[in-house]
Amino acid sequence: AGTLMAGKRGVIMGVANKNSIAWAIASAVAAQGAELAFTYQGEALGKRVRPLAESVGSSLVLPCDVGDDAAIDTTFDEIEKVWGKIDFVVHAIGWADKQYLRGRYLDTPRDAFLKAMDISCYSFTAVARRASAMMNPGGSLVTLTYLGAERVMPHYNVMGVAKAALEASVRYMAVDLGRDNIRVNGISAGPIMTLAANGIGDFRYILRWNQLNSPLERNVSLKDVGGAGLYLLSDLSSGVTGEIQHVDCGYNIIGMKNPEAPDL
Ligand code: NAD
Repeated sequence: AGTLMAGKRGVIMGVANKNSIAWAIASAVAAQGAELAFTYQGEALGKRVRPLAESVGSSLVLPCDVGDDAAIDTTFDEIEKVWGKIDFVVHAIGWADKQYLRGRYLDTPRDAFLKAMDISCYSFTAVARRASAMMNPGGSLVTLTYLGAERVMPHYNVMGVAKAALEASVRYMAVDLGRDNIRVNGISAGPIMTLAANGIGDFRYILRWNQLNSPLERNVSLKDVGGAGLYLLSDLSSGVTGEIQHVDCGYNIIGMKNPEAPDL
């Protein structure tokens, strides 16, 4: 255990189970002395999150559906009552109707587009506004994104469009909050088999493709992403804001399939 995060308090949003990226980041910062609050969506997940939170000494575990402004206010009001100020937030939340995470992007209906955009992009803005109002200088906000924001990935479709908007919102908020010495960054993680990833068509093929064609010749681990989260939430990254940090074993730099990799 280290002390990189000693004296810092933060809110982790988006733990569904122990394979969640949010949990990987929570574990990494807790091991460095951070004090954590957790939010979850719905009581079914609350039952899963509470024991995980307890395992890192946290008893501040609250429901928060980020599609609901009043719920965001209530949750952060509650945290403010207990802690007063916070130092960081992890937003590891995304959602789109599974039905549209396959086939053509072109066929996305308006309501599915708006819902994906609301939960996967706008919720970070809403959370950042509420959280930054109770954040100490030196604070850090981190969200999770994917290469499908920059390039066309099979089946990612409306999520790719929402992630592109999310990445743009990271840059705009970095400017808005820079004067308060609050930083805003995104982690663009390589594919990891989580609950959310399970909804994406042919995900196993995508995993295998990345493994064979990444410079590091493997897939990214939860620990890899946890480490990057620790960096962006700690003072180690005090000069970094508005950045999208790829944590993908280098996959994003590749221009062509590895000729030595077997055909899939
Ligand atoms: P996960 O299923 O473990 O986490 C997704 C979380 O989003 C869940 O905890 C779920 O409850 C929460 N959520 C969805 N709708 C919500 C709502 N309305 N209110 C509150 N919470 C809500 O999966 P994950 O892969 O850890 O996803 C975390 C983030 O990482 C997402 O933004 C995802 O797009 C991103 N990401 C994942 C991968 C990957 O391959 N797994 C790669 C890059 C980026």
